Amino acid sequence: MANSLGKDSCVVWDLVKRASPAIRGFIVTTRFKPSKTKNFMRADAACYLELQMFSNDESISDRLDATDPDRCCDLLKVRPTRPAINEMDVDCWVTGLRCTEGRTRTDYQEIEERDTGLIKLNPILIWHEREVWQYLAIRQVPVNALYAEGYRSLGCAPCSRITSGGDERAGRWIGTSKCGGECGIHTRPLKIA
Ligand code: SF4
Repeated sequence: MANSLGKDSCVVWDLVKRASPAIRGFIVTTRFKPSKTKNFMRADAACYLELQMFSNDESISDRLDATDPDRCCDLLKVRPTRPAINEMDVDCWVTGLRCTEGRTRTDYQEIEERDTGLIKLNPILIWHEREVWQYLAIRQVPVNALYAEGYRSLGCAPCSRITSGGDERAGRWIGTSKCGGECGIHTRPLKIA
């Protein structure tokens, strides 16, 4: 499972662990993750030894997040996802994608193969934000402390803001052409032939 450390991943991680404790997971992290996300990640990693971390620590230009967020996400998020998929020898991965999250996620399917040889399962695809919080509350699943501040969608610190309104992802990449969009992990090829 791809565990983004967000609320949706918390639901799906709880579901997959109930289905089979043997299911492995990976977290793609970046140098720009908020400290509360890093703390949450360390706590999760301490509980679940089958969670592996991947990151790209190569140097990048200053403020690339502002000048070219697509490139920044490609370097820091998409590139480390490829070794995660390939080193862990993944043919099928599970995600917390939901089609009600925002404008870029409306056409996802519960089972897809956008990347040849890599099946993606999206088990909570049709859940609404309210249902996610209901599940987390009923199951008493711990979440990132940033949610208590009002965040609804979590990413890197420079690219996440608190917003309200219909689009849950509207606080992502505000002020750029990527606003409310995608980092590329779910839209770019990942499987290395
Ligand atoms: S979310 Fe922002 S800081 Fe993080 S990789 Fe993408 S552009 Fe860079």
